[in-house]
Amino acid sequence: MRKEIFYILSFVIFLYSILFFCLGCDDIPDPNDVTDKPEDICPYYDSDCDEISNAVENNDANDYLNLNPNAKNSNPSIAHGDPCVGWLENGLNLVNTGTGYYHYNPEADMDDWGTLHLINMIEISGRIWNSSFKEPPRISIGDLSLKYGGTFAPHGCHENGLEVDIRYVRNDGQEAVLNIAKNPEYYDIEKTQFLINRLIFNAKVELIYCDTVNIGLKGGPLVHRDGHSDHFHVRIVDPDGTSN
Ligand SMILES: [Zn+2]
Repeated sequence: MRKEIFYILSFVIFLYSILFFCLGCDDIPDPNDVTDKPEDICPYYDSDCDEISNAVENNDANDYLNLNPNAKNSNPSIAHGDPCVGWLENGLNLVNTGTGYYHYNPEADMDDWGTLHLINMIEISGRIWNSSFKEPPRISIGDLSLKYGGTFAPHGCHENGLEVDIRYVRNDGQEAVLNIAKNPEYYDIEKTQFLINRLIFNAKVELIYCDTVNIGLKGGPLVHRDGHSDHFHVRIVDPDGTSN
Protein backbone atom coordinates (compact mmCIF):
# COMPACT_ATOMS: atom_id res chain seq x y z
CA MET A 1 0.00 0.00 0.00
CA ARG A 2 2.78 2.46 0.96
CA LYS A 3 4.56 1.64 -2.26
CA GLU A 4 1.46 2.54 -4.25
CA ILE A 5 1.14 5.91 -2.51
CA PHE A 6 4.79 6.53 -3.27
CA TYR A 7 4.24 5.74 -6.97
CA ILE A 8 1.12 7.91 -7.17
CA LEU A 9 2.91 10.83 -5.49
CA SER A 10 5.88 10.45 -7.80
CA PHE A 11 3.57 10.46 -10.80
CA VAL A 12 1.77 13.60 -9.60
CA ILE A 13 5.09 15.37 -9.04
CA PHE A 14 6.17 14.27 -12.50
CA LEU A 15 2.99 15.77 -14.04
CA TYR A 16 3.52 19.05 -12.17
CA SER A 17 7.10 19.19 -13.40
CA ILE A 18 5.94 18.92 -17.00
CA LEU A 19 3.25 21.54 -16.41
CA PHE A 20 5.74 24.03 -14.89
CA PHE A 21 8.31 23.28 -17.51
CA CYS A 22 5.83 24.11 -20.25
CA LEU A 23 4.60 27.24 -18.51
CA GLY A 24 8.22 28.30 -18.38
CA CYS A 25 8.65 27.49 -22.06
CA ASP A 26 6.47 30.43 -23.04
CA ASP A 27 8.77 32.86 -21.27
CA ILE A 28 11.93 31.77 -22.99
CA PRO A 29 11.75 32.80 -26.63
CA ASP A 30 13.62 30.99 -29.33
CA PRO A 31 16.36 33.43 -30.35
CA ASN A 32 15.59 32.69 -34.01
CA ASP A 33 11.96 33.75 -33.57
CA VAL A 34 12.73 37.03 -31.85
CA THR A 35 12.01 40.04 -33.99
CA ASP A 36 12.97 42.50 -31.22
CA LYS A 37 16.66 41.95 -30.75
CA PRO A 38 18.07 42.92 -27.35
CA GLU A 39 19.40 46.24 -28.66
CA ASP A 40 15.82 47.20 -29.49
CA ILE A 41 14.66 46.74 -25.92
CA CYS A 42 14.80 50.32 -24.74
CA PRO A 43 14.20 51.83 -21.30
CA TYR A 44 10.69 53.13 -20.64
CA TYR A 45 11.91 56.73 -20.63
CA ASP A 46 13.70 56.44 -23.99
CA SER A 47 11.66 54.30 -26.36
CA ASP A 48 14.02 54.71 -29.32
CA CYS A 49 17.25 54.15 -27.37
CA ASP A 50 18.82 57.32 -28.73
CA GLU A 51 19.77 58.61 -25.26
CA ILE A 52 17.46 61.58 -25.68
CA SER A 53 14.54 60.92 -23.34
CA ASN A 54 10.94 60.79 -24.55
CA ALA A 55 10.21 63.70 -22.20
CA VAL A 56 12.80 65.86 -23.94
CA GLU A 57 11.75 64.71 -27.41
CA ASN A 58 8.08 65.44 -26.64
CA ASN A 59 8.81 68.82 -25.04
CA ASP A 60 7.15 71.53 -27.14
CA ALA A 61 10.04 73.88 -26.47
CA ASN A 62 12.25 71.46 -28.39
CA ASP A 63 10.03 71.36 -31.49
CA TYR A 64 12.55 73.47 -33.40
CA LEU A 65 14.97 70.52 -33.26
CA ASN A 66 12.51 68.10 -34.93
CA LEU A 67 13.15 65.32 -32.44
CA ASN A 68 11.02 62.20 -32.50
CA PRO A 69 10.55 59.76 -29.62
CA ASN A 70 10.16 56.90 -32.10
CA ALA A 71 13.16 57.56 -34.31
CA LYS A 72 16.79 57.66 -33.37
CA ASN A 73 18.03 61.23 -33.27
CA SER A 74 21.63 62.18 -32.76
CA ASN A 75 22.58 64.68 -30.10
CA PRO A 76 22.06 68.11 -31.70
CA SER A 77 23.54 70.24 -28.91
CA ILE A 78 26.97 71.83 -29.06
CA ALA A 79 28.67 73.91 -26.37
CA HIS A 80 30.77 76.60 -27.97
CA GLY A 81 33.55 78.53 -26.26
CA ASP A 82 33.70 78.01 -22.52
CA PRO A 83 31.11 78.35 -19.77
CA CYS A 84 32.07 81.96 -19.02
CA VAL A 85 32.46 83.21 -22.62
CA GLY A 86 30.48 81.01 -24.93
CA TRP A 87 27.22 80.14 -26.60
CA LEU A 88 24.93 77.19 -27.08
CA GLU A 89 23.97 75.68 -30.43
CA ASN A 90 20.81 73.57 -30.69
CA GLY A 91 20.35 73.57 -26.94
CA LEU A 92 17.83 71.20 -25.40
CA ASN A 93 15.12 72.46 -23.08
CA LEU A 94 14.76 70.74 -19.73
CA VAL A 95 11.19 69.62 -19.08
CA ASN A 96 9.93 71.82 -16.25
CA THR A 97 8.79 68.96 -14.03
CA GLY A 98 10.22 65.46 -14.39
CA THR A 99 10.66 62.33 -12.33
CA GLY A 100 12.37 63.31 -9.09
CA TYR A 101 13.07 66.95 -9.97
CA TYR A 102 11.41 70.26 -10.76
CA HIS A 103 12.66 73.49 -12.21
CA TYR A 104 11.91 76.27 -9.76
CA ASN A 105 12.11 79.32 -12.01
CA PRO A 106 8.51 80.25 -12.80
CA GLU A 107 9.49 81.87 -16.09
CA ALA A 108 9.18 78.75 -18.18
CA ASP A 109 11.68 77.88 -20.86
CA MET A 110 13.74 81.02 -20.40
CA ASP A 111 16.71 79.80 -18.37
CA ASP A 112 16.60 76.01 -18.69
CA TRP A 113 18.55 75.15 -21.82
CA GLY A 114 21.59 72.94 -21.96
CA THR A 115 23.63 70.33 -23.73
CA LEU A 116 22.17 66.83 -23.82
CA HIS A 117 24.77 65.65 -21.29
CA LEU A 118 23.63 68.27 -18.78
CA ILE A 119 19.94 67.50 -19.32
CA ASN A 120 20.60 63.76 -19.01
CA MET A 121 22.56 64.26 -15.78
CA ILE A 122 19.53 66.00 -14.26
CA GLU A 123 16.97 63.49 -15.55
CA ILE A 124 18.97 60.40 -14.58
CA SER A 125 19.68 61.79 -11.11
CA GLY A 126 15.98 62.61 -10.77
CA ARG A 127 14.94 59.06 -11.57
CA ILE A 128 17.41 57.66 -9.04
CA TRP A 129 16.25 60.23 -6.49
CA ASN A 130 12.64 59.24 -7.03
CA SER A 131 13.32 55.53 -6.68
CA SER A 132 15.55 56.04 -3.64
CA PHE A 133 13.55 58.43 -1.49
CA LYS A 134 10.10 58.98 -2.91
CA GLU A 135 9.98 62.73 -2.86
CA PRO A 136 9.26 65.32 -1.42
CA PRO A 137 11.46 67.12 -1.57
CA ARG A 138 12.36 66.70 -5.21
CA ILE A 139 15.66 67.93 -6.59
CA SER A 140 15.30 71.71 -7.02
CA ILE A 141 16.79 72.86 -10.30
CA GLY A 142 17.56 76.54 -11.01
CA ASP A 143 19.24 78.27 -13.93
CA LEU A 144 20.95 76.40 -16.73
CA SER A 145 21.61 78.59 -19.81
CA LEU A 146 19.55 80.79 -22.11
CA LYS A 147 18.22 79.23 -25.30
CA TYR A 148 21.22 80.24 -27.38
CA GLY A 149 23.54 80.69 -24.44
CA GLY A 150 25.64 83.83 -24.13
CA THR A 151 25.72 86.40 -21.35
CA PHE A 152 23.22 85.57 -18.62
CA ALA A 153 22.92 88.17 -15.86
CA PRO A 154 23.44 87.98 -12.94
CA HIS A 155 25.65 84.98 -13.64
CA GLY A 156 29.29 85.26 -14.55
CA CYS A 157 29.11 82.03 -16.53
CA HIS A 158 26.18 79.70 -17.45
CA GLU A 159 26.87 80.66 -21.08
CA ASN A 160 27.11 77.41 -23.06
CA GLY A 161 24.81 74.76 -21.60
CA LEU A 162 27.31 73.07 -19.30
CA GLU A 163 26.17 74.47 -15.95
CA VAL A 164 23.22 74.24 -13.61
CA ASP A 165 22.33 75.67 -10.21
CA ILE A 166 20.78 73.30 -7.69
CA ARG A 167 19.43 73.93 -4.19
CA TYR A 168 20.79 72.21 -1.11
CA VAL A 169 18.41 69.56 0.20
CA ARG A 170 16.20 70.49 3.15
CA ASN A 171 15.37 68.07 5.96
CA ASP A 172 11.78 69.27 6.43
CA GLY A 173 10.40 67.99 3.13
CA GLN A 174 10.03 71.53 1.82
CA GLU A 175 11.25 72.52 -1.62
CA ALA A 176 11.82 76.15 -0.70
CA VAL A 177 15.23 77.77 -0.90
CA LEU A 178 17.66 76.95 1.92
CA ASN A 179 20.62 79.05 2.94
CA ILE A 180 22.97 76.63 4.72
CA ALA A 181 24.89 79.48 6.38
CA LYS A 182 21.78 81.10 7.85
CA ASN A 183 19.59 78.04 8.51
CA PRO A 184 21.83 75.04 9.00
CA GLU A 185 19.09 73.43 11.15
CA TYR A 186 17.12 72.69 7.98
CA TYR A 187 20.07 71.27 6.06
CA ASP A 188 20.01 67.58 5.09
CA ILE A 189 23.66 66.77 4.62
CA GLU A 190 23.15 63.07 3.84
CA LYS A 191 20.70 63.71 1.03
CA THR A 192 22.79 66.54 -0.35
CA GLN A 193 25.78 64.19 -0.38
CA PHE A 194 23.65 61.53 -2.08
CA LEU A 195 22.55 64.06 -4.69
CA ILE A 196 26.07 65.28 -5.43
CA ASN A 197 27.31 61.70 -5.71
CA ARG A 198 24.56 60.91 -8.21
CA LEU A 199 25.42 63.98 -10.28
CA ILE A 200 29.09 63.03 -10.33
CA PHE A 201 28.25 59.45 -11.22
CA ASN A 202 26.01 60.44 -14.13
CA ALA A 203 28.17 63.06 -15.83
CA LYS A 204 31.77 64.15 -16.05
CA VAL A 205 31.58 66.93 -13.48
CA GLU A 206 34.40 69.44 -13.76
CA LEU A 207 33.65 71.42 -10.61
CA ILE A 208 30.96 72.30 -8.12
CA TYR A 209 30.96 75.80 -6.67
CA CYS A 210 29.48 75.71 -3.19
CA ASP A 211 29.80 77.01 0.37
CA THR A 212 32.56 74.69 1.59
CA VAL A 213 32.44 76.30 5.06
CA ASN A 214 28.90 75.06 5.70
CA ILE A 215 28.32 72.17 3.29
CA GLY A 216 29.98 69.64 5.62
CA LEU A 217 31.40 67.72 2.66
CA LYS A 218 34.80 67.93 1.06
CA GLY A 219 36.91 66.59 -1.74
CA GLY A 220 36.07 65.69 -5.30
CA PRO A 221 35.03 68.64 -7.43
CA LEU A 222 33.84 70.85 -4.54
CA VAL A 223 35.25 74.37 -4.77
CA HIS A 224 34.43 77.27 -2.48
CA ARG A 225 32.88 80.33 -4.03
CA ASP A 226 31.20 83.18 -2.18
CA GLY A 227 27.51 83.61 -2.93
CA HIS A 228 26.84 79.86 -3.01
CA SER A 229 25.21 79.35 0.40
CA ASP A 230 21.71 78.99 -1.04
CA HIS A 231 22.57 76.81 -4.05
CA PHE A 232 25.50 74.96 -5.54
CA HIS A 233 26.65 75.29 -9.10
CA VAL A 234 27.58 72.25 -11.18
CA ARG A 235 29.77 72.51 -14.27
CA ILE A 236 30.23 69.47 -16.49
CA VAL A 237 33.11 68.84 -18.86
CA ASP A 238 32.38 69.93 -22.43
CA PRO A 239 31.23 66.63 -24.01
CA ASP A 240 32.98 67.21 -27.34
CA GLY A 241 36.02 69.05 -26.03
CA THR A 242 36.79 72.73 -25.73
CA SER A 243 38.13 73.36 -29.22
CA ASN A 244 34.82 74.45 -30.74
ZN1 LIG B 1 25.46 79.02 -11.14
